[in-house]
Amino acid sequence: MKTWRLALVGQPVQHSWSPALHDAALAHAGLSGTYVLRDTPEADLEEVFRELRDGRLDGINVTVPHKVIATACVDALTPTAALLGAINTVVREGDRLVGDNTDVPGFSACLEGPLPASAVVLGAGGAARSAVVALARAGLERVTVVARTPDRIRSWLDEQAAPYLHPTRLAWRPWADLDEVLPDAGWLVQATTVGMHPNGSDSPLTDSQIACLPDAGVVHDLVYRPDPTRLVELARARGLEAHSGGRMLAFQAREAFRAWTGLEVPGSVWLEALRIQACRVI
Ligand code: NAP
Repeated sequence: MKTWRLALVGQPVQHSWSPALHDAALAHAGLSGTYVLRDTPEADLEEVFRELRDGRLDGINVTVPHKVIATACVDALTPTAALLGAINTVVREGDRLVGDNTDVPGFSACLEGPLPASAVVLGAGGAARSAVVALARAGLERVTVVARTPDRIRSWLDEQAAPYLHPTRLAWRPWADLDEVLPDAGWLVQATTVGMHPNGSDSPLTDSQIACLPDAGVVHDLVYRPDPTRLVELARARGLEAHSGGRMLAFQAREAFRAWTGLEVPGSVWLEALRIQACRVI
């Protein structure tokens, strides 16, 4: 019986919940294998990819800080990964390595309920880009990115994303304009690192900014630890529907597992593994 050897490469990686998720999926699928954490400095990245190329590994996830630089270690990118300029999953197809980005379908799987006309995304990093792509593919008319450093995402939005994601209208605004933009946030996607463990009492929005959100607005915080995040607590206290990032984490892992093994493990298995892992770390 084949033994699946899967790995997460990044630095640091010890905090990752991915082994708990993928171990549960391997067990559910009746596969033998392990998912290991590989703390990898950039200088060792090529070597890990060689292991995938020659069959010593069967699949790789890539996390910070290598998601962009790792695009140079593969032979091809999926269209989504090419648009984002970043990969989080690498699959061996014959003698080629293909880089993919499963954060986009992972977040798409979280977008349920009536489609609003517009969304606001907070942040300018890779998670914000993934959210922009997923929101445009969901069919929204407008997506506005609000960032502390808009220069980090401006040219990507204007030159690469906007033509590709047409007819969704993409815009960016500086953080100082937040109060003006929030009433247009049918969905608010929080893609900054604010509120992440160990700073779980922080929220990127004040109470008065949360009051600016539309009554039917839905808040998606991509931060998954703590769960719920402070922002999610505040939004729920205002009576809004709000979700932390755990579901996205689970669903991006499901997409990666499918890409490596070809097997569909039900969402319920991933969410249960996530629930158990969340209880473990509290
Ligand atoms: P990143 O590349 O480091 O980007 C973080 C962004 O947060 C930057 O734009 C940064 O602004 C902004 N930021 C930080 N502190 C801020 C503050 N006080 N006010 C306003 N903006 C602030 O990180 P990333 O990879 O995009 O990830 C962002 C978050 O999403 C992380 O918490 C990560 O864990 C989460 N995430 C979750 C999933 C999931 O599956 N649930 C997947 C991917 C990422 P500057 O550019 O000005 O520094």
